[in-house]
Amino acid sequence: MKRNHNALLSVLAVTIVIAAIFHFMGGTLQRTGVPVTLSGAFVLIGIALAVGRRRPVRSERISKTEISLPRVVQKSATDEVEPVAPATALGREYRKTRWDETETQVDALITAGLHLLQNRIDGHTFAVFFPTTDGGYMLRRHISTCEYINRDAILYPGVGVIGGFLKDGLKQLNLKEIVSDSMTLYYYTRDVGIRSLMASPMTAGGTERGTVIVDSLSPKKFTDDDHAFLGEVASLLGPAIYNTYMYTEHKLQHGRLAAMSSIEKEFFRNLSRQSIVDRIAEIVPHTLPCDRLTISMKNDDGESATILAAIGCEAEGFSDKRFSTGGKSLASVLYTSNLVLSRNYSDEHYEIRYLTDEPRNEELRSFVAVPLGVDECQGMVLVESCRENAYDESYRELLGRLSTSAGLAIEKMLIFEKANALATHDGLTGLYNHRTFQQMLADEITRAIRYQEPVSLVICDIDHFKRINDTWGHPFGDVVLKGVSSLLENSVRQDIDTVARYGGEEFALILVKTDDKGAAETAERIRSAIAATPFKSPQGEEVRVNMSFGISEYRKHAKQINELIAKADKALYRAKENGRNRVEVF
Ligand code: GH3
Ligand code: MG
Ligand code: MG
Repeated sequence: MKRNHNALLSVLAVTIVIAAIFHFMGGTLQRTGVPVTLSGAFVLIGIALAVGRRRPVRSERISKTEISLPRVVQKSATDEVEPVAPATALGREYRKTRWDETETQVDALITAGLHLLQNRIDGHTFAVFFPTTDGGYMLRRHISTCEYINRDAILYPGVGVIGGFLKDGLKQLNLKEIVSDSMTLYYYTRDVGIRSLMASPMTAGGTERGTVIVDSLSPKKFTDDDHAFLGEVASLLGPAIYNTYMYTEHKLQHGRLAAMSSIEKEFFRNLSRQSIVDRIAEIVPHTLPCDRLTISMKNDDGESATILAAIGCEAEGFSDKRFSTGGKSLASVLYTSNLVLSRNYSDEHYEIRYLTDEPRNEELRSFVAVPLGVDECQGMVLVESCRENAYDESYRELLGRLSTSAGLAIEKMLIFEKANALATHDGLTGLYNHRTFQQMLADEITRAIRYQEPVSLVICDIDHFKRINDTWGHPFGDVVLKGVSSLLENSVRQDIDTVARYGGEEFALILVKTDDKGAAETAERIRSAIAATPFKSPQGEEVRVNMSFGISEYRKHAKQINELIAKADKALYRAKENGRNRVEVF
């Protein structure tokens, strides 16, 4: 008997080790398509073997179907290796489905365990209780011929026959002569005459996972052997159930991390404001409670931001709206503090999200808002819900992580933009630099050839600029250069013509689809505007500057880019020679 017992223990030990290996191979398991509950099945095979070895005579009663392993081992639909889209993997629906499936698997495990007990022990009701969040134990699953089972039973420590033994946690029980009404057991709806009861706790991962109970209508029904067997089944069922839950948890966690890293990669692949905003707008409604989503980004002026995405309640009223980041709105607070904010909206007054004239909605009850950006808030994601307290820690963390990676991508994008601007633009005036001008002129000439259209080049230079520097100082010279630059930019067609800083106080204009006559008219208009614009010197005097202009037209005056530039330069020289503050066509 002793040897037999040792053999049993070694079989169980090997079985549990195999079960554990399968469980902690989570990812591999999934990839190879091995069923989730395989380890649970191994545990039960272990129990079956134990039963077989322990009581050779009685084991005859256990038929293959009674053990019902196939139900547990059955491959469920979700065990298929199916690629899950990142937004789905982060979604609430997906998580819920996976957990529902897990509960079904756990039920199958318990049922198999209860069948094993039923085959080995002559009992009345076989039941498994799971802990509740408030310290009780609720009936999870049972096998009984009795129809008076209270399916909603919850046992509380200190209450009823079993509760009396639960004060310091679950215990091994073997009650041999129960005299009280079965109702005091709490899982019966009337007195069915229970006289014996034994219970064994299920523990796994160092904590109590529940208890397995077997009762009988006869007093002194259960032997020490019966109780030992119950203990063995309970001690195997506990880890099997626990591992099934853990497996799902690991799998969801893994899926979540994989989804996040795939989304992060996408952020960095498409470094543009709109593509980053679009991706967030696509993911958030799947993953968080969301009755309205608005995403804004800071504008170049640094003082305002624009809503680039709006979905949900009254979304149209928010689309493309520009708002100040320095006001008293919710958005302003976030842009200034650069912190995650989450709470319920005030009952007393409507809180302005962005603008005083925005559509007001009293149904939205709570929100979470996260900044986009690392050191500085470059943008903001505001998610709102009609439910109070809709955003718990896990939602805040998920959105926080999403916004951190989006923020990193945005910062990288801004660095790129800055570096790009430095390479193509002049630092003082913000106009295109000489190199970019050359490239753009070449492009415009190519286009002019293709469409058989004229293009004119204007080179202009501030008259006696040296004197300005000499009289009022170099910094004031810079002020004049900036003023002249913006005047030039505002005098040509936006996004059609080009203005560049050609050299020190020399500028170039590329006027497309414009012949020399048209160019001369534009130049004349600019000349008189500049002459009429006073600049305030540091001493408060009004300082006026003049400019001279030289013009050449592509094809009419030149067929090569260098020739075109040289001829505009020559015309400018002539304007200077002829007394300055004038326009000359080559
Ligand atoms: P002209 O009418 O013949 O063009 O006379 P000018 O004095 O404008 O021409 P000149 O070439 O003698 O002097 C140009 C001056 O522009 C000299 C230079 O110090 C100044 N300058 C060039 N770049 C800058 C700049 O970025 N800032 C300032 N403040 N001055 C500049
Ligand atoms: Mg000059
Ligand atoms: Mg000059």
